[in-house]
Amino acid sequence: MTRRLGSKVVRAGRSLPAGAGVPIVPPLIQSVAFDYGSLAEQDAVFGNERPGYVYGRYGTPTTAALEELLADLDELPRATCFASGMSAVHALMTAFRGPLVIQEDCYGGTRALAERLRLEDGRDVRYVDPTDPEAINRAATPGALVLVEAISNPLLRIVDVAQVASAAHDAGATVSVDATFATPVLMRPAQHGADVVLHSLTKYLNGHGDVMGGVVSGSDELRLLLADRVQLDGAYLPPHEAWLCIRGLRTLELRVRRQCESALAIARHLASHPKVGSVRYPGLADHPQHDLATRQFDGLYGGVVGVTLRRDERDAAISFLDALELAASATTVGDIFTEVLYPPVSSHRRLDPAERARLGMTEGFVRISVGIEDPADIIADLDAALEVV
Ligand code: PLP
Repeated sequence: MTRRLGSKVVRAGRSLPAGAGVPIVPPLIQSVAFDYGSLAEQDAVFGNERPGYVYGRYGTPTTAALEELLADLDELPRATCFASGMSAVHALMTAFRGPLVIQEDCYGGTRALAERLRLEDGRDVRYVDPTDPEAINRAATPGALVLVEAISNPLLRIVDVAQVASAAHDAGATVSVDATFATPVLMRPAQHGADVVLHSLTKYLNGHGDVMGGVVSGSDELRLLLADRVQLDGAYLPPHEAWLCIRGLRTLELRVRRQCESALAIARHLASHPKVGSVRYPGLADHPQHDLATRQFDGLYGGVVGVTLRRDERDAAISFLDALELAASATTVGDIFTEVLYPPVSSHRRLDPAERARLGMTEGFVRISVGIEDPADIIADLDAALEVV
């Protein structure tokens, strides 16, 4: 029987071996090595002639249970987990040798890594406006890897995944979608033609601010390339993190739906606030891709709200962040806690200020990641902090 997302996440990990009976909670198998009793058997596992685990950098049963769940959620054949979202991005970028075609306003770390690959390895990197299919078609060449974000960080642009996939596939390129902000609750990019899906597990998928991790889902062939990378680069997700992430995922749908509802209420409230210049939220009718978001995300719009203060200046943004009491001024997103981030000092610190401004991250722009607290309390906290701006 095909199960829906909310049921899949609750059942995950039940197949893990644990001795007598089937534990309802999957066991945490915190072992680096595995004893087969005979070297011949160990040799067969190392040689991929039989399934099993040999060494923590090659695979662990608990991480494998998480990978099975994530592949299922992404609706792709295989998933590979990494020690962070950035190690997942790095493994993906280096698993392909062709040009990198990257969304110009992607997460700052992704862009900085692409720049490093360009400078140090001479990699051909091309930045594109992901809402322009012709630009993607021009930049993508056979063998290229196109990397876009379903909802971009932090400007909340929505990428029409089906349109990007069609433009890139026409050019002979592979399409990967970073769905960290969207999560499988809002969309499964593979249904829209994406070949590869990536998430930072650190964000919504774990959701509790206590795990760093990343995942890349894709074909069996991609899995082989990525397995080689986790083995040799040593960036595999350890079992304890995987176990925590399975636990965090159990409530993914509940959390994300609540965060989306609260984010919409907060965006509507801030849109008419006298201290706010503008609000970016895909759920507001004035968002340039509101209709696309409604279609692509099944009526949900994500848990992140972008706010440009009326006084669009650095000191206004800093006063606002410093005055928050319930919300944390924190460099992350997607947790159960409300977190507010100022891109110029954190996520997009490495980006040239002129380029930041060109993309729309002006000095008074802040990103609010809405948590699961009572939305009335979040609004009261934001209002109180806006008083001092
Ligand atoms: N992708 C996106 C969209 C992100 O926002 C981030 C981090 O903020 C990453 C990837 C990198 O993830 P991590 O911080 O887990 O390395």
